[in-house]
Amino acid sequence: MRRGSNLPAVGTYKRTLVLDLIRRAPAGISRIELAARTGLSPQTLSNVARRLVAEGWVREGTPVASGPGKPRTPLQLDPSARCAVGIHLDPAVDTFVVVDLLGEVVAHAERTPRQDGSADDIVADLARAVDDLLAEAGRDRRSVLGVGVAAPGPLDADRGLLFEPPLLPAAWHQLAVGPRLSAATGLTTTLEKDVVAAMVGELWRDASQELQDSIFFYYGAGVGAGLAVDGTPIRGRTGNAGDIAHLVVEPGGPVCGCSQRGCLGVAISPERLLVDAGIVAPGHPIAAPALRGHLRALAARAAAGDERARRAAEHAGASLARAVVQINNLLDADVVVVGGPLWSLLSPTAAPALNRGVADSTETATLGGIRVLDSRLASEAAAVGAACLVLDAAMTARPTDLMIADSPV
Ligand SMILES: [Zn+2]
Repeated sequence: MRRGSNLPAVGTYKRTLVLDLIRRAPAGISRIELAARTGLSPQTLSNVARRLVAEGWVREGTPVASGPGKPRTPLQLDPSARCAVGIHLDPAVDTFVVVDLLGEVVAHAERTPRQDGSADDIVADLARAVDDLLAEAGRDRRSVLGVGVAAPGPLDADRGLLFEPPLLPAAWHQLAVGPRLSAATGLTTTLEKDVVAAMVGELWRDASQELQDSIFFYYGAGVGAGLAVDGTPIRGRTGNAGDIAHLVVEPGGPVCGCSQRGCLGVAISPERLLVDAGIVAPGHPIAAPALRGHLRALAARAAAGDERARRAAEHAGASLARAVVQINNLLDADVVVVGGPLWSLLSPTAAPALNRGVADSTETATLGGIRVLDSRLASEAAAVGAACLVLDAAMTARPTDLMIADSPV
């Protein structure tokens, strides 16, 4: 619960509001238009704009004559003025990106998650990867707004702490990755659950605003759902919203760790698909970093007409459809985006089955039908989203930022 106004935040809010409008106007927006849109006085607006130009965030475009009077000078965002780093820790693959102020990726790297060594080694590795990527992008550390880290939940976002991410070695457990990476890089670090970060990334790139109410289905070493309501990503009370792994989609399906049968997490897990497709033997343990290579083999076989591989991927699509319909019934979003680090490998075969399952479902309780879209960000969604969280903090104006929180944060 928030109430009242936080006066010191008002100045920052005005600045963020102006920056937010400028970034959403690719062709530029004049001071007069900004004053009309924000309700700020010309004097306040002029001061805010002058500061943004002086700090390099915004540049003055070519003056445009429009009727009598002084030509209007459009203000445009300089996307290269600052940047943000995003890291996505998935047990199957670690993804690193640098994004500019429009959220466009300017550098990208992938690494196999470290399977040995201590927590110190893990943090040092991540910090080195950030350094390497910034060097590759030609970005000065002083231009970096911060680092966003997306990781499997449950986690403690406020303390930057991972709990016990399944499928990651013990050295990752109880790792305070936020504060430790911040100390190692000298950059402010934010930790967020992977599905929340992915939703933020999709919203940031959603120029047409079709994802204002939407669901992001995440397919990596695990599954999850990111939710957006009225343009705002839903984090939940502790930042751990979106765990859908134990939604039963296949009664009589494989036994889950929770002792039920046919939970979504096990029904469409990469391991199950690989066994069903005959690519790995039942009971044969697969290290998470090997999943991508095996799934690539499955996709190649399905594309070449192998019946077992095709059926396994289609079965996953149909099972996912049941979860899509149920979650959509809960939220009435009607737009579902599917992505995550392993989805693009399955998508050619699984997506048509998913679409059929959704279209043919007799359980849909909403009126408009459900549109299923492939993620614009594909396997980078959570990494880009983590970086966009950093941009969001600097550049997205939310009236709730003006309110006083009930408890100290
Ligand atoms: Zn379960």
